[in-house]
Amino acid sequence: MKEELEKIREECQASLGLARTEPEISDIRVNVLGRKGSLTQLLKRLGTLPEDERREIGRRANEIKEDLEARVEECLRCIQEQERTEALEREKIDVTLPGRRMILGRKHPLTQTLDEIIHIFSRLGFEVVEGPEVELDYYNFEALNIPKGHPAREMQATFFISDDVVLRTHTSPVQVRTMEKKRPPVRVICPGAVYRCDSDPTHSPMFHQVEGLLVDRGITFSDLKGILTVFVHQMFGKETKLRFRPSFFPFTEPSAEIDIECFICGGKGCGVCSGTGWLEILGSGMVDPAVYRFVDYDPEEVTGFAFGMGIERIAMLKYGINDIRLFFTNDLRFLKQF
Ligand SMILES: [Zn+2]
Repeated sequence: MKEELEKIREECQASLGLARTEPEISDIRVNVLGRKGSLTQLLKRLGTLPEDERREIGRRANEIKEDLEARVEECLRCIQEQERTEALEREKIDVTLPGRRMILGRKHPLTQTLDEIIHIFSRLGFEVVEGPEVELDYYNFEALNIPKGHPAREMQATFFISDDVVLRTHTSPVQVRTMEKKRPPVRVICPGAVYRCDSDPTHSPMFHQVEGLLVDRGITFSDLKGILTVFVHQMFGKETKLRFRPSFFPFTEPSAEIDIECFICGGKGCGVCSGTGWLEILGSGMVDPAVYRFVDYDPEEVTGFAFGMGIERIAMLKYGINDIRLFFTNDLRFLKQF
């Protein structure tokens, strides 16, 4: 029985040495020290031994039992410790690592251009107003001094919805709507989408305009020149040369178009400016007194000026874009450049 006892001790120590997990150690504990374990069973048989042998083996058996119990506890503690260390290692967060960057979208170049235009004019005291894109013929043409049958209607290839309703061909109707609601002084810009039946590298059936209107007592052509010169210099740079060229619009008199010096050839003449050295950027003029009749303003009392520009055209000139259709094809390679 003595050898049997030592064998249990040796086997148990050996298997504890090999055990790597908590369940393995629990199994060993059950198999040796449990109620039906080998050591427990052996202790039960002590009673069959003679007195002196029983005392000696009994003492030894108890020593071994205590020793093995202590070893089992120690092994368990080791494994738990090790698992905790591994878990900490596994879950370690390096706070110095750079974060994952969010991919930011960006504003469409037309929105950027419009934002810039609005920013310039709002610092000059202009307020932004908007109006409907589906417009009555009355506001789109008639109240702007373009009666039915007037040849100026031919200048604007119109999408008609019915005889009296059109997709607005310019943002000018917003001026009329504003003057109907508000007495002078009026100082507004009207951005928005407009529609014309036209499509080529420089024309799109849908495009955007910003229209401006300033009406007050004593407004003269020099106010128009002053405000628009400030705008051109802020939009295209202080050194930009510009000129006012006489023109015609049915709702302004006198009218002028504004050209800036061609930035490709510096005024010498090239393909972009059709050899003229100048690029047209906007139309303007003193509001025709006939327009005031429609909104019940007294042309003897107030004067004012209006101007309008295509946002696409401004963006194309500012960023050197050669095809208007690029703005609307949603090609990310193009859009990411802004
Ligand atoms: Zn040129």
